[in-house]
Amino acid sequence: MNTDNRNKGIGASHGIGIGKAVVLKPPELSFEKNRVTDTSEELSRYRQVVKSFVGNTETLAKKASESVGDAQADILRGHILIVQDPCMSDNIESMIKSGDCAEEAVSRVCDRYIAVFSSSDDELTRQRAADMEDIKKQLLMILLKKQSTDIRNIEKGSVICIRELTPSMTVGIDKNNVAGIVTETGGAACHAAILARALEIPAVLSVKNALSKIRDGDRVIVDGISGSVTVSPTDEELCEYEKKRKKYLLDREELKKYIGKRTVTADGRELRILCNIGKPEDADQVTANDGEGVGLFRTEFMFMDRNSAPTEEEQLEAYRAVLLKMKNKPVTIRTLDIGGDKSIPYLDFPKEDNTYLGYRAIRYCLGNRELFSTQLRALLRASVYGDLRIMIPMISCIEEIREVRGLIEELKTELDGKGQSYSDSIKLGIMMETPSACITADLFAKEVDFFSIGTNDLIQYTMAADRGNADVAYLYSVFNPAVLRLIKYVIESAHSAGIPVGMCGEAASDERLIPLLITYGLDEFSVLPSCVLQTRRNIAKILSP
Ligand code: PEP
Ligand code: MG
Repeated sequence: MNTDNRNKGIGASHGIGIGKAVVLKPPELSFEKNRVTDTSEELSRYRQVVKSFVGNTETLAKKASESVGDAQADILRGHILIVQDPCMSDNIESMIKSGDCAEEAVSRVCDRYIAVFSSSDDELTRQRAADMEDIKKQLLMILLKKQSTDIRNIEKGSVICIRELTPSMTVGIDKNNVAGIVTETGGAACHAAILARALEIPAVLSVKNALSKIRDGDRVIVDGISGSVTVSPTDEELCEYEKKRKKYLLDREELKKYIGKRTVTADGRELRILCNIGKPEDADQVTANDGEGVGLFRTEFMFMDRNSAPTEEEQLEAYRAVLLKMKNKPVTIRTLDIGGDKSIPYLDFPKEDNTYLGYRAIRYCLGNRELFSTQLRALLRASVYGDLRIMIPMISCIEEIREVRGLIEELKTELDGKGQSYSDSIKLGIMMETPSACITADLFAKEVDFFSIGTNDLIQYTMAADRGNADVAYLYSVFNPAVLRLIKYVIESAHSAGIPVGMCGEAASDERLIPLLITYGLDEFSVLPSCVLQTRRNIAKILSP
Protein backbone atom coordinates (compact mmCIF):
# COMPACT_ATOMS: atom_id res chain seq x y z
CA MET A 1 0.00 0.00 0.00
CA ASN A 2 1.20 3.52 -0.79
CA THR A 3 1.89 5.35 2.48
CA ASP A 4 3.78 8.36 1.02
CA ASN A 5 0.55 10.28 0.97
CA ARG A 6 -0.10 9.63 4.67
CA ASN A 7 0.97 12.36 7.06
CA LYS A 8 1.15 12.08 10.82
CA GLY A 9 -0.15 14.66 13.26
CA ILE A 10 -1.96 14.80 16.57
CA GLY A 11 -5.40 13.18 16.53
CA ALA A 12 -7.30 15.90 18.35
CA SER A 13 -10.92 15.07 17.60
CA HIS A 14 -12.10 11.54 16.92
CA GLY A 15 -13.87 10.29 13.84
CA ILE A 16 -13.01 9.84 10.19
CA GLY A 17 -13.67 12.73 7.82
CA ILE A 18 -13.42 12.39 4.06
CA GLY A 19 -13.76 15.48 1.91
CA LYS A 20 -12.32 18.10 -0.39
CA ALA A 21 -9.48 20.29 0.87
CA VAL A 22 -10.09 23.99 1.33
CA VAL A 23 -6.64 25.41 1.95
CA LEU A 24 -6.80 28.67 3.86
CA LYS A 25 -3.50 30.49 3.46
CA PRO A 26 -3.17 33.99 4.83
CA PRO A 27 -3.20 36.19 1.70
CA GLU A 28 0.15 37.72 0.65
CA LEU A 29 -0.52 41.45 0.60
CA SER A 30 2.88 42.95 -0.21
CA PHE A 31 3.12 45.33 -3.22
CA GLU A 32 5.62 47.46 -5.16
CA LYS A 33 5.44 51.12 -4.16
CA ASN A 34 5.19 52.31 -7.76
CA ARG A 35 4.80 56.00 -8.61
CA VAL A 36 1.91 56.48 -11.01
CA THR A 37 1.94 58.77 -14.02
CA ASP A 38 -1.73 58.56 -14.97
CA THR A 39 -3.22 59.68 -11.67
CA SER A 40 -6.79 59.95 -12.94
CA GLU A 41 -6.72 56.32 -14.08
CA GLU A 42 -5.34 55.29 -10.68
CA LEU A 43 -8.08 57.35 -9.02
CA SER A 44 -10.79 55.53 -10.92
CA ARG A 45 -9.13 52.18 -10.10
CA TYR A 46 -9.37 53.10 -6.42
CA ARG A 47 -13.02 54.23 -6.73
CA GLN A 48 -13.87 50.96 -8.44
CA VAL A 49 -12.27 49.06 -5.56
CA VAL A 50 -14.34 51.02 -3.05
CA LYS A 51 -17.48 50.08 -5.00
CA SER A 52 -16.53 46.39 -4.90
CA PHE A 53 -15.74 46.66 -1.20
CA VAL A 54 -19.17 48.15 -0.49
CA GLY A 55 -20.91 45.46 -2.59
CA ASN A 56 -18.99 42.57 -0.98
CA THR A 57 -19.48 43.90 2.51
CA GLU A 58 -23.19 44.47 2.01
CA THR A 59 -23.58 40.83 0.84
CA LEU A 60 -21.59 39.59 3.83
CA ALA A 61 -23.70 41.71 6.19
CA LYS A 62 -26.90 40.20 4.79
CA LYS A 63 -25.53 36.69 5.29
CA ALA A 64 -24.32 37.59 8.78
CA SER A 65 -27.71 38.87 9.88
CA GLU A 66 -29.30 35.58 8.77
CA SER A 67 -26.66 33.31 10.31
CA VAL A 68 -25.18 35.07 13.33
CA GLY A 69 -27.42 38.01 14.01
CA ASP A 70 -27.85 41.73 13.48
CA ALA A 71 -25.03 42.76 15.81
CA GLN A 72 -22.42 41.18 13.49
CA ALA A 73 -24.15 42.62 10.43
CA ASP A 74 -24.04 46.11 11.94
CA ILE A 75 -20.29 45.84 12.48
CA LEU A 76 -19.84 45.07 8.77
CA ARG A 77 -22.14 47.92 7.73
CA GLY A 78 -20.03 50.17 9.97
CA HIS A 79 -17.03 49.24 7.78
CA ILE A 80 -18.85 50.57 4.75
CA LEU A 81 -19.46 53.89 6.51
CA ILE A 82 -15.78 54.16 7.44
CA VAL A 83 -14.61 53.56 3.87
CA GLN A 84 -17.12 56.08 2.54
CA ASP A 85 -16.18 58.66 5.17
CA PRO A 86 -15.19 61.85 3.26
CA CYS A 87 -12.18 62.51 5.48
CA MET A 88 -10.70 59.07 4.83
CA SER A 89 -11.39 59.07 1.09
CA ASP A 90 -10.06 62.65 0.70
CA ASN A 91 -6.81 61.60 2.36
CA ILE A 92 -6.43 58.57 0.11
CA GLU A 93 -7.41 60.41 -3.06
CA SER A 94 -5.05 63.31 -2.43
CA MET A 95 -2.13 60.87 -2.04
CA ILE A 96 -3.09 59.23 -5.34
CA LYS A 97 -3.34 62.65 -7.01
CA SER A 98 0.21 63.36 -5.87
CA GLY A 99 1.46 60.20 -7.60
CA ASP A 100 1.23 57.39 -5.02
CA CYS A 101 -0.23 54.11 -6.18
CA ALA A 102 -3.61 53.18 -4.67
CA GLU A 103 -2.09 50.33 -2.59
CA GLU A 104 0.38 52.72 -0.93
CA ALA A 105 -2.27 55.40 -0.33
CA VAL A 106 -4.73 52.94 1.24
CA SER A 107 -2.04 51.34 3.33
CA ARG A 108 -0.57 54.59 4.67
CA VAL A 109 -3.90 56.26 5.43
CA CYS A 110 -5.27 53.16 7.17
CA ASP A 111 -2.06 52.82 9.20
CA ARG A 112 -2.41 56.43 10.32
CA TYR A 113 -5.96 55.79 11.56
CA ILE A 114 -4.86 52.54 13.24
CA ALA A 115 -2.10 54.36 15.13
CA VAL A 116 -4.45 57.14 16.28
CA PHE A 117 -7.22 54.72 17.32
CA SER A 118 -4.85 52.36 19.14
CA SER A 119 -3.44 55.11 21.32
CA SER A 120 -6.83 56.46 22.44
CA ASP A 121 -7.86 56.35 26.11
CA ASP A 122 -11.39 55.46 25.12
CA GLU A 123 -12.03 51.73 24.77
CA LEU A 124 -14.59 52.06 21.98
CA THR A 125 -12.19 54.15 19.91
CA ARG A 126 -9.45 51.59 20.46
CA GLN A 127 -11.75 48.90 19.10
CA ARG A 128 -11.93 50.86 15.85
CA ALA A 129 -8.26 49.99 15.26
CA ALA A 130 -9.18 46.31 14.75
CA ASP A 131 -11.94 47.37 12.32
CA MET A 132 -9.46 49.54 10.45
CA GLU A 133 -6.99 46.61 10.17
CA ASP A 134 -9.77 44.55 8.67
CA ILE A 135 -10.75 47.30 6.21
CA LYS A 136 -7.14 47.78 5.13
CA LYS A 137 -6.78 44.05 4.48
CA GLN A 138 -10.03 43.90 2.50
CA LEU A 139 -9.17 46.92 0.33
CA LEU A 140 -5.67 45.60 -0.39
CA MET A 141 -7.07 42.18 -1.26
CA ILE A 142 -9.33 43.72 -3.89
CA LEU A 143 -6.57 46.00 -5.22
CA LEU A 144 -4.17 43.05 -5.47
CA LYS A 145 -6.92 40.73 -6.78
CA LYS A 146 -6.50 38.22 -3.95
CA GLN A 147 -9.22 35.80 -2.97
CA SER A 148 -10.17 34.95 0.59
CA THR A 149 -12.41 32.20 1.83
CA ASP A 150 -14.94 32.93 4.52
CA ILE A 151 -14.76 30.02 6.92
CA ARG A 152 -18.46 30.39 7.70
CA ASN A 153 -19.53 29.87 4.14
CA ILE A 154 -17.44 26.98 2.90
CA GLU A 155 -19.13 24.20 0.96
CA LYS A 156 -20.50 20.99 2.41
CA GLY A 157 -17.91 18.19 2.60
CA SER A 158 -14.92 20.52 3.01
CA VAL A 159 -11.77 19.67 4.91
CA ILE A 160 -10.33 22.90 6.31
CA CYS A 161 -6.54 23.01 6.02
CA ILE A 162 -5.05 25.95 7.85
CA ARG A 163 -1.82 26.89 9.60
CA GLU A 164 -3.46 27.68 12.89
CA LEU A 165 -7.07 27.55 13.91
CA THR A 166 -7.98 30.18 16.48
CA PRO A 167 -10.82 29.64 18.96
CA SER A 168 -12.91 32.48 17.50
CA MET A 169 -12.58 31.00 13.99
CA THR A 170 -13.77 27.64 15.27
CA VAL A 171 -16.80 29.33 16.81
CA GLY A 172 -17.80 30.44 13.28
CA ILE A 173 -17.63 26.98 11.71
CA ASP A 174 -20.81 25.32 10.46
CA LYS A 175 -20.30 21.72 11.50
CA ASN A 176 -22.65 20.43 8.82
CA ASN A 177 -20.29 21.64 6.11
CA VAL A 178 -16.93 20.70 7.58
CA ALA A 179 -15.85 17.07 7.15
CA GLY A 180 -12.51 17.53 8.87
CA ILE A 181 -9.83 19.92 10.07
CA VAL A 182 -6.09 19.79 9.45
CA THR A 183 -3.67 22.29 10.95
CA GLU A 184 0.09 22.81 11.04
CA THR A 185 0.17 23.87 14.69
CA GLY A 186 -1.56 23.14 18.00
CA GLY A 187 -1.82 20.30 20.48
CA ALA A 188 -4.69 18.14 21.72
CA ALA A 189 -5.44 20.46 24.64
CA CYS A 190 -5.50 23.76 22.74
CA HIS A 191 -8.88 25.41 22.61
CA ALA A 192 -9.32 24.93 18.90
CA ALA A 193 -8.96 21.18 19.50
CA ILE A 194 -11.46 21.24 22.33
CA LEU A 195 -13.92 23.09 20.10
CA ALA A 196 -13.39 20.67 17.22
CA ARG A 197 -14.26 17.85 19.63
CA ALA A 198 -17.29 19.75 20.86
CA LEU A 199 -18.46 20.14 17.26
CA GLU A 200 -17.64 16.46 16.63
CA ILE A 201 -15.50 17.32 13.61
CA PRO A 202 -12.57 14.93 13.06
CA ALA A 203 -9.34 16.91 13.44
CA VAL A 204 -5.64 16.25 13.08
CA LEU A 205 -3.36 19.00 14.31
CA SER A 206 0.33 19.80 13.90
CA VAL A 207 0.78 18.09 10.55
CA LYS A 208 4.20 19.29 9.37
CA ASN A 209 4.08 21.35 6.15
CA ALA A 210 0.42 20.44 5.62
CA LEU A 211 -0.20 23.57 3.59
CA SER A 212 2.50 22.74 1.09
CA LYS A 213 1.48 19.08 0.83
CA ILE A 214 -2.25 19.64 0.41
CA ARG A 215 -3.65 21.63 -2.51
CA ASP A 216 -7.06 23.23 -2.74
CA GLY A 217 -9.53 20.67 -4.03
CA ASP A 218 -7.45 17.56 -3.16
CA ARG A 219 -9.39 14.69 -1.71
CA VAL A 220 -8.29 14.26 1.92
CA ILE A 221 -8.99 11.69 4.63
CA VAL A 222 -8.74 12.99 8.19
CA ASP A 223 -8.33 10.19 10.71
CA GLY A 224 -8.77 11.88 14.07
CA ILE A 225 -8.46 8.54 15.87
CA SER A 226 -4.92 7.63 14.80
CA GLY A 227 -3.89 11.20 13.93
CA SER A 228 -3.18 10.76 10.23
CA VAL A 229 -4.08 12.69 7.12
CA THR A 230 -4.15 10.94 3.75
CA VAL A 231 -3.92 13.16 0.69
CA SER A 232 -5.36 11.97 -2.66
CA PRO A 233 -6.10 8.45 -1.36
CA THR A 234 -6.05 5.40 -3.61
CA ASP A 235 -9.28 3.41 -4.06
CA GLU A 236 -7.90 0.84 -1.66
CA GLU A 237 -7.27 3.50 1.00
CA LEU A 238 -10.70 5.00 0.49
CA CYS A 239 -12.25 1.59 1.01
CA GLU A 240 -10.16 0.99 4.16
CA TYR A 241 -11.23 4.31 5.67
CA GLU A 242 -14.88 3.92 4.70
CA LYS A 243 -14.84 0.69 6.74
CA LYS A 244 -13.12 2.44 9.65
CA ARG A 245 -15.67 5.25 9.47
CA LYS A 246 -18.61 2.84 9.52
CA LYS A 247 -17.11 0.99 12.51
CA TYR A 248 -16.68 4.26 14.38
CA LEU A 249 -20.26 5.32 13.65
CA LEU A 250 -21.58 1.90 14.68
CA ASP A 251 -19.80 2.18 18.00
CA ARG A 252 -21.36 5.63 18.52
CA GLU A 253 -24.77 4.03 17.90
CA GLU A 254 -24.11 1.24 20.40
CA LEU A 255 -23.25 3.75 23.09
CA LYS A 256 -26.86 4.93 23.00
CA LYS A 257 -27.83 2.03 25.25
CA TYR A 258 -26.16 3.96 28.10
CA ILE A 259 -28.72 6.76 27.78
CA GLY A 260 -30.90 6.90 30.88
CA LYS A 261 -28.57 4.63 32.86
CA ARG A 262 -26.93 5.66 36.13
CA THR A 263 -23.18 6.20 36.16
CA VAL A 264 -21.86 3.36 38.31
CA THR A 265 -18.65 1.36 38.60
CA ALA A 266 -18.76 -2.43 38.11
CA ASP A 267 -19.21 -2.83 41.90
CA GLY A 268 -21.97 -0.26 42.15
CA ARG A 269 -20.22 2.94 43.28
CA GLU A 270 -22.27 5.83 41.96
CA LEU A 271 -20.49 8.71 40.23
CA ARG A 272 -21.63 11.66 38.18
CA ILE A 273 -20.82 12.73 34.63
CA LEU A 274 -21.41 16.37 33.85
CA CYS A 275 -20.59 18.28 30.70
CA ASN A 276 -18.29 21.01 29.44
CA ILE A 277 -20.04 23.59 27.30
CA GLY A 278 -19.02 26.82 25.56
CA LYS A 279 -22.33 28.47 24.75
CA PRO A 280 -25.88 28.35 26.11
CA GLU A 281 -27.18 26.38 23.09
CA ASP A 282 -24.76 23.55 23.98
CA ALA A 283 -27.05 22.73 26.91
CA ASP A 284 -29.23 20.90 24.35
CA GLN A 285 -26.28 18.60 23.66
CA VAL A 286 -25.97 17.92 27.39
CA THR A 287 -29.56 16.75 27.51
CA ALA A 288 -29.31 14.80 24.24
CA ASN A 289 -26.26 12.91 25.56
CA ASP A 290 -27.76 12.36 29.01
CA GLY A 291 -25.24 14.52 30.88
CA GLU A 292 -26.01 14.89 34.58
CA GLY A 293 -25.49 18.64 34.64
CA VAL A 294 -22.92 21.19 33.52
CA GLY A 295 -19.48 20.85 35.10
CA LEU A 296 -17.89 23.69 33.14
CA PHE A 297 -19.51 26.48 31.15
CA ARG A 298 -16.60 28.36 29.54
CA THR A 299 -18.25 31.78 29.47
CA GLU A 300 -15.42 33.44 27.53
CA PHE A 301 -16.87 32.12 24.26
CA MET A 302 -19.87 34.37 24.80
CA PHE A 303 -17.47 37.31 24.81
CA MET A 304 -15.78 36.34 21.53
CA ASP A 305 -16.88 36.98 17.99
CA ARG A 306 -18.46 40.34 18.80
CA ASN A 307 -17.08 43.78 19.40
CA SER A 308 -18.21 44.64 22.89
CA ALA A 309 -18.76 42.68 26.08
CA PRO A 310 -22.23 41.16 26.63
CA THR A 311 -24.29 43.31 28.99
CA GLU A 312 -25.53 42.15 32.40
CA GLU A 313 -28.98 41.51 30.90
CA GLU A 314 -27.56 39.50 27.99
CA GLN A 315 -25.48 37.42 30.36
CA LEU A 316 -28.39 36.93 32.75
CA GLU A 317 -30.46 35.64 29.85
CA ALA A 318 -27.72 33.18 28.78
CA TYR A 319 -27.13 31.80 32.29
CA ARG A 320 -30.86 31.62 32.99
CA ALA A 321 -31.40 29.66 29.77
CA VAL A 322 -28.80 27.04 30.76
CA LEU A 323 -30.10 26.76 34.34
CA LEU A 324 -33.67 26.32 33.13
CA LYS A 325 -32.69 23.71 30.54
CA MET A 326 -30.80 21.77 33.20
CA LYS A 327 -33.90 21.62 35.44
CA ASN A 328 -32.18 21.82 38.84
CA LYS A 329 -29.25 19.67 37.87
CA PRO A 330 -25.96 21.35 38.85
CA VAL A 331 -24.74 24.07 36.50
CA THR A 332 -21.14 25.16 37.03
CA ILE A 333 -20.47 28.49 35.37
CA ARG A 334 -16.88 29.56 35.13
CA THR A 335 -16.15 33.26 35.24
CA LEU A 336 -14.32 34.82 32.32
CA ASP A 337 -11.09 32.92 31.57
CA ILE A 338 -9.51 35.10 28.96
CA GLY A 339 -5.84 35.37 28.10
CA GLY A 340 -3.54 32.47 27.30
CA ASP A 341 -4.58 31.37 23.81
CA LYS A 342 -7.97 33.13 23.94
CA SER A 343 -7.95 36.79 23.07
CA ILE A 344 -10.76 39.31 22.76
CA PRO A 345 -9.86 42.29 20.56
CA TYR A 346 -12.09 44.79 22.34
CA LEU A 347 -10.69 44.06 25.81
CA ASP A 348 -7.71 46.08 26.79
CA PHE A 349 -4.97 43.45 27.05
CA PRO A 350 -1.38 44.53 27.49
CA LYS A 351 1.06 42.97 25.03
CA GLU A 352 2.73 40.13 26.90
CA ASP A 353 5.70 37.92 26.14
CA ASN A 354 4.25 34.99 28.00
CA THR A 355 0.49 35.08 27.88
CA TYR A 356 -0.04 31.81 29.76
CA LEU A 357 1.88 33.15 32.74
CA GLY A 358 0.46 36.62 32.45
CA TYR A 359 -2.61 38.67 33.02
CA ARG A 360 -5.27 36.06 32.36
CA ALA A 361 -8.48 34.69 33.90
CA ILE A 362 -9.08 35.75 37.53
CA ARG A 363 -5.99 37.97 37.47
CA TYR A 364 -7.51 40.03 34.66
CA CYS A 365 -10.99 39.98 36.23
CA LEU A 366 -9.80 41.25 39.59
CA GLY A 367 -8.02 44.09 37.79
CA ASN A 368 -11.12 44.93 35.74
CA ARG A 369 -13.78 45.18 38.41
CA GLU A 370 -16.55 46.58 36.28
CA LEU A 371 -16.39 43.76 33.76
CA PHE A 372 -16.10 41.15 36.52
CA SER A 373 -18.87 42.65 38.68
CA THR A 374 -21.21 42.71 35.67
CA GLN A 375 -20.65 38.98 35.20
CA LEU A 376 -21.00 38.17 38.90
CA ARG A 377 -24.20 40.24 39.18
CA ALA A 378 -25.67 38.40 36.20
CA LEU A 379 -24.71 35.09 37.82
CA LEU A 380 -26.23 36.03 41.19
CA ARG A 381 -29.46 37.12 39.54
CA ALA A 382 -29.57 33.93 37.44
CA SER A 383 -29.06 31.73 40.50
CA VAL A 384 -32.78 31.70 41.33
CA TYR A 385 -33.44 29.58 38.22
CA GLY A 386 -31.58 26.44 39.28
CA ASP A 387 -28.61 24.88 41.05
CA LEU A 388 -25.81 27.33 40.31
CA ARG A 389 -22.16 26.82 41.12
CA ILE A 390 -19.80 29.69 40.39
CA MET A 391 -16.31 28.54 39.46
CA ILE A 392 -13.21 30.74 39.41
CA PRO A 393 -10.37 29.91 36.97
CA MET A 394 -6.58 30.09 37.41
CA ILE A 395 -6.57 30.63 41.15
CA SER A 396 -3.00 30.54 42.41
CA CYS A 397 -3.15 32.04 45.90
CA ILE A 398 -5.66 32.19 48.75
CA GLU A 399 -5.95 35.98 48.63
CA GLU A 400 -7.50 35.78 45.15
CA ILE A 401 -10.43 33.61 46.25
CA ARG A 402 -10.94 35.70 49.39
CA GLU A 403 -11.11 38.81 47.23
CA VAL A 404 -13.69 37.13 44.97
CA ARG A 405 -15.78 36.10 47.96
CA GLY A 406 -15.63 39.65 49.31
CA LEU A 407 -16.75 41.06 45.99
CA ILE A 408 -19.64 38.59 45.76
CA GLU A 409 -20.78 39.64 49.25
CA GLU A 410 -20.64 43.33 48.23
CA LEU A 411 -22.68 42.60 45.12
CA LYS A 412 -25.27 40.68 47.13
CA THR A 413 -25.69 43.72 49.40
CA GLU A 414 -26.08 45.88 46.31
CA LEU A 415 -28.76 43.54 44.92
CA ASP A 416 -30.53 43.51 48.32
CA GLY A 417 -30.65 47.30 48.14
CA LYS A 418 -32.34 47.12 44.74
CA GLY A 419 -34.72 44.38 45.84
CA GLN A 420 -33.25 41.92 43.32
CA SER A 421 -33.22 38.31 44.44
CA TYR A 422 -30.58 35.60 44.32
CA SER A 423 -30.40 32.09 45.70
CA ASP A 424 -28.92 31.56 49.16
CA SER A 425 -27.43 28.20 48.18
CA ILE A 426 -24.99 29.24 45.43
CA LYS A 427 -21.76 27.27 45.71
CA LEU A 428 -18.41 28.89 45.09
CA GLY A 429 -15.57 26.71 43.83
CA ILE A 430 -12.26 26.93 42.06
CA MET A 431 -10.45 25.33 39.19
CA MET A 432 -7.41 23.43 40.44
CA GLU A 433 -5.11 24.14 37.52
CA THR A 434 -2.01 25.75 38.96
CA PRO A 435 0.58 23.73 40.86
CA SER A 436 0.53 26.30 43.70
CA ALA A 437 -3.20 25.75 44.29
CA CYS A 438 -2.84 21.96 44.12
CA ILE A 439 0.13 21.80 46.49
CA THR A 440 -1.85 23.84 49.03
CA ALA A 441 -5.17 22.13 48.29
CA ASP A 442 -5.66 21.47 52.02
CA LEU A 443 -5.72 25.24 52.65
CA PHE A 444 -8.02 26.01 49.71
CA ALA A 445 -10.41 23.24 50.76
CA LYS A 446 -11.29 25.28 53.86
CA GLU A 447 -12.21 28.31 51.75
CA VAL A 448 -14.44 26.95 48.99
CA ASP A 449 -17.38 24.64 48.37
CA PHE A 450 -15.86 22.48 45.62
CA PHE A 451 -12.81 21.84 43.46
CA SER A 452 -12.63 21.05 39.78
CA ILE A 453 -9.29 19.84 38.44
CA GLY A 454 -8.34 21.54 35.18
CA THR A 455 -5.78 19.14 33.76
CA ASN A 456 -5.37 21.07 30.50
CA ASP A 457 -3.57 23.86 32.29
CA LEU A 458 -2.36 21.85 35.26
CA ILE A 459 -0.26 19.63 32.99
CA GLN A 460 1.26 22.59 31.16
CA TYR A 461 2.14 24.45 34.34
CA THR A 462 3.45 21.36 36.17
CA MET A 463 5.52 20.10 33.26
CA ALA A 464 6.50 23.59 32.02
CA ALA A 465 5.26 22.48 28.57
CA ASP A 466 2.98 24.71 26.48
CA ARG A 467 -0.34 22.90 25.95
CA GLY A 468 -0.46 23.89 22.26
CA ASN A 469 3.15 23.21 21.27
CA ALA A 470 3.62 19.95 19.37
CA ASP A 471 7.39 19.96 19.93
CA VAL A 472 6.97 19.56 23.66
CA ALA A 473 3.96 17.24 23.42
CA TYR A 474 6.10 14.39 24.74
CA LEU A 475 6.21 16.19 28.11
CA TYR A 476 2.56 17.11 28.09
CA SER A 477 1.16 14.02 29.81
CA VAL A 478 -1.34 13.57 32.58
CA PHE A 479 0.43 10.30 33.42
CA ASN A 480 3.62 11.95 34.57
CA PRO A 481 3.92 11.09 38.30
CA ALA A 482 4.21 14.79 39.13
CA VAL A 483 0.76 15.45 37.69
CA LEU A 484 -0.76 12.28 39.14
CA ARG A 485 0.52 13.10 42.63
CA LEU A 486 -1.06 16.54 42.45
CA ILE A 487 -4.38 15.07 41.32
CA LYS A 488 -4.30 12.51 44.13
CA TYR A 489 -3.45 15.15 46.72
CA VAL A 490 -6.22 17.48 45.55
CA ILE A 491 -8.79 14.68 45.86
CA GLU A 492 -7.54 13.63 49.31
CA SER A 493 -7.53 17.24 50.55
CA ALA A 494 -11.04 17.86 49.28
CA HIS A 495 -12.36 14.74 50.97
CA SER A 496 -10.60 15.49 54.28
CA ALA A 497 -12.42 18.83 54.30
CA GLY A 498 -15.70 17.22 53.21
CA ILE A 499 -16.04 18.97 49.85
CA PRO A 500 -16.63 17.28 46.45
CA VAL A 501 -14.05 17.25 43.71
CA GLY A 502 -14.48 16.90 39.97
CA MET A 503 -12.29 17.03 36.92
CA CYS A 504 -13.16 19.16 33.91
CA GLY A 505 -9.91 18.98 31.94
CA GLU A 506 -9.85 16.86 28.80
CA ALA A 507 -8.14 14.03 30.71
CA ALA A 508 -11.44 13.30 32.48
CA SER A 509 -12.60 11.35 29.43
CA ASP A 510 -9.29 9.55 28.89
CA GLU A 511 -10.11 5.86 29.10
CA ARG A 512 -6.63 5.07 30.46
CA LEU A 513 -6.91 7.56 33.32
CA ILE A 514 -10.42 6.69 34.52
CA PRO A 515 -9.35 3.64 36.63
CA LEU A 516 -6.86 5.81 38.51
CA LEU A 517 -9.36 8.60 39.05
CA ILE A 518 -11.81 6.12 40.51
CA THR A 519 -9.09 4.68 42.76
CA TYR A 520 -8.22 8.18 43.97
CA GLY A 521 -11.90 8.79 44.69
CA LEU A 522 -12.89 11.48 42.16
CA ASP A 523 -16.60 12.36 42.59
CA GLU A 524 -17.46 13.95 39.26
CA PHE A 525 -16.27 13.80 35.70
CA SER A 526 -16.98 16.73 33.42
CA VAL A 527 -16.53 15.90 29.75
CA LEU A 528 -17.72 17.08 26.36
CA PRO A 529 -21.36 16.13 25.71
CA SER A 530 -20.18 13.79 22.95
CA CYS A 531 -18.02 11.90 25.50
CA VAL A 532 -20.67 11.28 28.21
CA LEU A 533 -21.80 7.86 27.06
CA GLN A 534 -18.37 6.42 26.36
CA THR A 535 -17.18 7.68 29.76
CA ARG A 536 -20.19 6.03 31.39
CA ARG A 537 -19.35 2.78 29.56
CA ASN A 538 -15.70 3.02 30.64
CA ILE A 539 -16.63 3.64 34.27
CA ALA A 540 -18.99 0.67 34.24
CA LYS A 541 -16.05 -1.66 33.51
CA ILE A 542 -14.09 -0.65 36.61
CA LEU A 543 -14.09 -1.99 40.15
CA SER A 544 -13.62 0.74 42.76
CA PRO A 545 -10.98 0.02 45.46
C1 PEP B 1 -8.32 23.23 32.06
O1 PEP B 1 -7.38 24.02 32.10
O2 PEP B 1 -8.21 22.00 32.28
C2 PEP B 1 -9.67 23.70 31.71
C3 PEP B 1 -10.72 22.90 31.80
O3 PEP B 1 -9.81 24.97 31.31
P1 PEP B 1 -9.39 25.55 29.88
O4 PEP B 1 -9.12 24.38 28.97
O5 PEP B 1 -10.53 26.39 29.41
O6 PEP B 1 -8.15 26.34 30.18
MG1 MG C 1 -7.68 26.15 32.22
